[in-house]
Amino acid sequence: MNSIKKILITRQGRKFYARNLNEDVHTQYGYVKKEELKKAIEGSLLKSNTNMEFFVFNPYFIDLYRKIKRDAQIIPLKDVGLIIAETGINKSSKVLDAGSGSGALACFLAGIAKEVVTYEIREDFIEITKSNIEFLNLKNIKIKNKDIYKEIDDKNIDVIILDLPEPWNAIENCAKALNPGGFIVSYSPSIPQVADFVNALRKNERFVYIKSVEITEREWEVEERKIRPKSKGLGHSGFLSFARKVQ
Ligand code: SAH
Repeated sequence: MNSIKKILITRQGRKFYARNLNEDVHTQYGYVKKEELKKAIEGSLLKSNTNMEFFVFNPYFIDLYRKIKRDAQIIPLKDVGLIIAETGINKSSKVLDAGSGSGALACFLAGIAKEVVTYEIREDFIEITKSNIEFLNLKNIKIKNKDIYKEIDDKNIDVIILDLPEPWNAIENCAKALNPGGFIVSYSPSIPQVADFVNALRKNERFVYIKSVEITEREWEVEERKIRPKSKGLGHSGFLSFARKVQ
């Protein structure tokens, strides 16, 4: 995958991506000449041939993250946010996630954690995850082609996130891999999965159940005094359940 060299953003917030500085950037608002792009200083304003204005800057992690390949359904950012906030993942954390899917969650967490290990059973998804890791230039992720229901051969993990159909089948293996005080998190789209996961945790003496949560993100339109919730966009993603390993 070509890396993204520059971000061009309109005053309305529409973003365009320059992958090759030796080519003009074509948009539906006309094109920006490569010569102007090359000599532009960070944050400066460029104009297209149709006089549309674009600010230009180097991509941030989040600009690149939003452009990764997505094949499996990835966890939305609102849910990534809560995982990080509840578990306090930070630069000293050792994190494990399964399955990798497109590697979206693993990549986001690698941006803030010390190291991330991601388990995946399907080779096609491993390939997508690899290309996303490369695209984001992350060096602290390991991919393992393993079934997490069968075995986890990693130890001293601080946080494990399960995004797969039967998370309760991984609980025993997670108990062995987690540090005392470490977190197990499950992300599931439907309630029977939450029930089976939480009921299994409650029966397990090695875990203390914390909570299950659904995050609803409602975006608002703000224009002068016309301020109201956007009419579109409230969909369902999944439920998050959190517990801590105690022994
Ligand atoms: N969180 C990922 C999406 C995960 S989709 C992201 O943000 O991109 C669920 C993935 O789990 C699928 O790719 C599936 O192949 C994988 N999976 C299912 N069962 C598994 C198991 N037992 N061990 C490892 N991976 C598994």
